[in-house]
Amino acid sequence: MRQTGMQLACQLRCIKTTQNLLCSSSTQKFSTSVMTLFRHKNAKRIEGLDKNVWIEFTKLAAEPDVVNLGQGFPDLPPPPYIREALADAAVGENFMLNQYTRGFGHPPLVKALAELYGDICGRSINPNKEIVVTVGGYGSLSNSIQGLIDEGDEVIIIEPFFDCFELMVKMAGGTPVFISLRPVQENVEQGVSYSGDWKLNEEELASKFNSRTKAIIINTPNNPLGKIFKMEELKIIADLCIKHDVLCISDEVYEWLVYSGHKHIKIATLPGMWERTITIGSAGKTFSVTGWKLGWSIGPEHLIKHLQTVQQNTIYTCCTPVQEAVAQGIRKEHVRLKEQECYFLSLPCELEVKRNRMVKFLCAAGMRPVIPEGGYFMIADISALNVDLSKMEGNEPYDNLFVKWMIKNKRLAAIPMSSFVSDQSKSNFEKYIRFCFIKQDSTLDSAEAILRGWK
Ligand code: PMP
Ligand code: GLN
Repeated sequence: MRQTGMQLACQLRCIKTTQNLLCSSSTQKFSTSVMTLFRHKNAKRIEGLDKNVWIEFTKLAAEPDVVNLGQGFPDLPPPPYIREALADAAVGENFMLNQYTRGFGHPPLVKALAELYGDICGRSINPNKEIVVTVGGYGSLSNSIQGLIDEGDEVIIIEPFFDCFELMVKMAGGTPVFISLRPVQENVEQGVSYSGDWKLNEEELASKFNSRTKAIIINTPNNPLGKIFKMEELKIIADLCIKHDVLCISDEVYEWLVYSGHKHIKIATLPGMWERTITIGSAGKTFSVTGWKLGWSIGPEHLIKHLQTVQQNTIYTCCTPVQEAVAQGIRKEHVRLKEQECYFLSLPCELEVKRNRMVKFLCAAGMRPVIPEGGYFMIADISALNVDLSKMEGNEPYDNLFVKWMIKNKRLAAIPMSSFVSDQSKSNFEKYIRFCFIKQDSTLDSAEAILRGWK
């Protein structure tokens, strides 16, 4: 029987550990440890999934003098009212807000979400049957994948993708099937190009669908590229989903972060898609409170009930005061959705200025940024810098080594782009790295000083 690279690597690790144990002084200790090693072996479902880009690079960026444009989180203050709402929920008169709430979502929150997204989608959404509130966008992805993907199911994932899509599908026993977005026209004007130039090949996409395909995962606006899928692109995906009776998991955690001239479209609103789509949102992204870890999945009852089953058998319920505060935030912004003070509109205006500033200073260093249409990340081509990494240790893609080198020598952190693609595609993407621009001006000042002084 042929073994996969992953199985071989695992066996090698076992042999190494056994060798180490053989060298240990006490035979008694050795035999107990060997027995423990085999008895306490990991579950198969997590085999080979122990490496994680966030753990590796967040640790490297943690030194106080490193300017951290790596992991995506704002260092800007969230809207003051939402922090006050959380404080009130915890210390206010209604002390019962410190106790468990309804497992599938705090009633005021699911009601507020049903009203907001009901208006956006132009349909009535049942707050109890068509929504699950959980632990962040991560929780929503995990509930969806655990609840709907089986051993042997194929799941189409569009590269570059948020890394956990692949890992969660594998953990569920599914098989990820990848297709890459590619820059169709290198519209390079003065060193910059645009995320909208990255497209899927329609025929190649069609070729990925077959009778084993259970779902496709899309992410718009996309992390890390910042691409917002246009109506004609979503229609192609929707038609294929309908033709092959495939589900769509649509990660829309950056739905409000849309820059001038672009529009976010929910694939669930396309004809025939509501009944086969789970749409995922995140309070962390919506209100710049990533540490609150609250997310939601919205979709038809016949799909959401499976996510509810996962939830009731895993985390059961989420933090009540956080849900209460987010409910107040959703209600407040819903009422003023068309007004400029609405946080959902004012935040992207603020970020667009930061995005444009980042484009300039990345170019000044000799990088070639890809200007994002949405989200709060920007990728940049680093190949023109010609940094010699031959002295760096490790058999890793160029971008991994580059980011490690940049943290060590320039005290600036980013995330390697090859973390967002499959193993087969790493060599096609290793000339890019990802920067986060939802940062205070003082953080961007420090990054700018490093980049302008690069040469
Ligand atoms: N999806 C995407 C595309 C993301 O970038 C993130 C990053 N946090 C998540 C989901 C997870 O969101 P949360 O922090 O709410 O768990
Ligand atoms: N979504 C954020 C990013 O892409 C954070 C991911 C994480 O910390 N796991 O940077």
